Formats: sequence, C-alpha cells, structure tokens
Amino acid sequence: MTKTVLITGGGIGIGRATAHAFGAAGYHVVVTDVLPDEGAAVVAEVQAAGGTAEFHLLDVRSTEQANAVVAAVEAKHGAIDCIVANAGIAHKVPLEELTDEKWDFTHDIDLKGMLKVIRPALPAMRAKGTGAIVCISSIMGIAYGWDQHVAYSAAKSGVIGLIRGLAVELAREGIRVNGIAPGYIRTAQLLNEKHSLGAAGADKAHEIIPMGRIGQADDIADVVLFLASHAARYMTGQVLVVDGGLLVGRY
Ligand code: NAP
Repeated sequence: MTKTVLITGGGIGIGRATAHAFGAAGYHVVVTDVLPDEGAAVVAEVQAAGGTAEFHLLDVRSTEQANAVVAAVEAKHGAIDCIVANAGIAHKVPLEELTDEKWDFTHDIDLKGMLKVIRPALPAMRAKGTGAIVCISSIMGIAYGWDQHVAYSAAKSGVIGLIRGLAVELAREGIRVNGIAPGYIRTAQLLNEKHSLGAAGADKAHEIIPMGRIGQADDIADVVLFLASHAARYMTGQVLVVDGGLLVGRY
C-alpha cells in the first residue's frame, strides 16, 4: 500500500526538496505550507515526475488548522506514515529588541508548531502500530549559539528535547522520532539579507566548511528519507548533523 508523508513548510527550500525525494520514493506526498502558490507548484512538480501529491494550506501555529488538515488527509489515505516537521523561520532580533511577541512568534512556529502537527496524527499512527516522524532542528540548536537569533537557537534546541521525549514515549508503539540538524543550506532562509547570511555570506561559507561547499536542500531531503525508511528501523530519538563537516572541522 502506498505510504503517505505530510511535510510542513513544503512549498520551498528543504521542504520542497523533501517532497521531491519522497515522491520519487513512491510516497503520496501531502505538501503543506502558508504559501499556496509555491505549495501547488511543488505538487505539480511531484506529479510531473510520476508521483502523487496534494496541497493543504497549513499555518503550523494553528491547532485548528493542523487538526483539520490531518483529519482530511486521514479520511482519504488512512494513518499518516511519516510527518516531516520542517516549517521554520530564523528572524534576526538583537536582544534589546527581543520582545515577548518576537520570542513567542519564533517559538510558535519553530517549536510549538511541530507538536501541533504531530499530535493529531498520533492516534491513527498508534492504532496502526507504525510511523516515522522527522523534525528539522539546526546546528544552531545542537552546537552553536547564534547571536541576535536567541529565540531561534532556543527553539531549535527545544526541538531536540521534543524529539527525545516523543521518541521514548512512542517507542513501544512502533513510532520512531528522529531529527536533522542541518548546517548551511542554500535556501531562501539562508539567503535572506536581513535575517541570515545573505547571498555574499552564502558564497563565502564554503571557506569554513570542510567539504568545501555549502549544502543544497536535497542534501537534507535524502537524509530525511533515510530516517523515515526501513533502513533506520532501529533508530529513534536521534538528531543527525548534516553539515559538510562544519561542526567537527571548525576550531
Ligand atoms: P525556507 O526556504 O524559508 O522554507 C521554510 C518554509 O516554511 C517556507 O515555505 C516558509 O514560508 C514556511 N513557513 C514559515 N512560517 C510557517 C508557518 N507558520 N506555518 C507553515 N509554514 C511556515 O527555509 P529552509 O531553509 O528550507 O528551512 C527549512 C527548515 O530547516 C527550517 O525549520 C529551518 O529553520 C531549518 N534549517 C535551515 C537551515 C538553512 O541553512 N537553510 C539550516 C538549519 C536549519 P515563508 O517563506 O512565508 O516564511
């Protein structure tokens, strides 16, 4: 039977590449995002490549939307086999401007939004006795403190705790929960001039990356697919660093 994957933030970047990878692997791909045009384009791309896909508008800050999207997908396809909790933002906010609203905004998307999408899918996964969840953290959550991105670093560290807690609680029910901590990956998030490295910074980043190049979105997508697959059947609660050697090479 065809397996189903639900991807948050699937309209661009790592989410889009993940949709392509799962589509090529034979999954039915549920692309969700706050970007309807980009999400619809990804569905068309997966279909053009011979796969099947559908789009649902989903802002991961909304419990109601998350519950409704998961219910609609389950009504059509049964229990969701894999959730890729990918949606995230990285806003640059100096400490003196870090209001409660800005702190909450990042946490609502980058950390709390993950549980909101995973939670409604668990009863059907539990009933089926199988499932895989992959959450996207960051090297900024596992190893680095990112200045002027304290909310992002904190939320991405929180994702690692979320992964570990869920993994242990769900392990005996056949549901595996793992994550990835990407390094520098060439996407809109990284290329953002205001909030991240920007184009010039991205072009220089290879100098500090042992593999000598910045990552591409499919470098992450392929590892997401691995974590969802039977090949990772004895792995749970783990966060894989996928960074071209950045963390082990920098001193
Ligand atoms: P991206 O290109 O900006 O894609 C992120 C997607 O999530 C966008 O479509 C974005 O829409 C969407 N999104 C934002 N807020 C949302 C919400 N409330 N509900 C649903 N979707 C929402 O970023 P990316 O680089 O592919 O990042 C994917 C994940 O990897 C993120 O969790 C990010 O933190 C993580 N990551 C990225 C890097 C990197 O170097 N790129 C490194 C480490 C970790 P908008 O464009 O409208 O915001």
